[in-house]
Amino acid sequence: MQELFQRTAELEEREVQLKQRVAQGRADASAAEAEEARREEEAERAARQHAEQKHDCLWQEAAAQREETAAKEQEAAGLRQQLAAVQSQVAPLSRQLAAAVAYRQLVEKRNAALAEHADTVEAQAAQVAEQLAAVQVEKAATEAELRTARAGLAAEQHSRAAAEGALTAAQEELAREQERRAAAETEAAAARDAAAREQEGRAAAEREAGAAQTQLACSVRLSLPRSVLSMPCHHLAVCTSCAAALPAPRACPLCRAMVSQQLGPVFLP
Ligand SMILES: [Zn+2]
Ligand SMILES: [Zn+2]
Repeated sequence: MQELFQRTAELEEREVQLKQRVAQGRADASAAEAEEARREEEAERAARQHAEQKHDCLWQEAAAQREETAAKEQEAAGLRQQLAAVQSQVAPLSRQLAAAVAYRQLVEKRNAALAEHADTVEAQAAQVAEQLAAVQVEKAATEAELRTARAGLAAEQHSRAAAEGALTAAQEELAREQERRAAAETEAAAARDAAAREQEGRAAAEREAGAAQTQLACSVRLSLPRSVLSMPCHHLAVCTSCAAALPAPRACPLCRAMVSQQLGPVFLP
């Protein structure tokens, strides 16, 4: 469009220049030149008509282009309206999108927190599982110890029962031994009593024997048995040697009676 205007302006300017040249040619040229100028003017006129025709043609073309431009502007206005409508539809959608994005970020944050929490929980679960395994191992060890202790206790009870049986047997044996010992002590006491009685009897017998021997021994020197009977007191008091050795006047060693006669020797059994 501007090209058309510019070209029209150039053409008009050129026309002015040509008119000036024509005027100058008229002024300068001769008659022949005037003829030539006239032909030139005719040619110029033809060119001008041609230019005017071209100008009209270009003008029509420009009008068509203006119509086309107007149609395109109208179309653009319609498109702008559609764009505005779409934008008005897009605005709430973008608000919803922003809200959705924010919600998605929130959800992702929550998911991250949940994943972290899940990791923590898994770590805790792993720790708990380890502790559980350790506790089970400890429990197994404790149960094994308990079984060993029960077996030991059973053996202990068994040996204790055996020891109690042996103790009972030993106590019974001891009771029997004590009974036997008591019986032996009783027997020993009886034997001692018997021995004491026998000793007493023997002592009594010895005393009796001693007394009898004293009675039978010579009352002067005691080394020989009495064997001479003094008369008239009838005491058997001295042995034959002491009887012979009695000083005169002879007196009985027992009763001091005068001895008139000595009979003997007499023999005791
Ligand atoms: Zn004598
Ligand atoms: Zn006498």
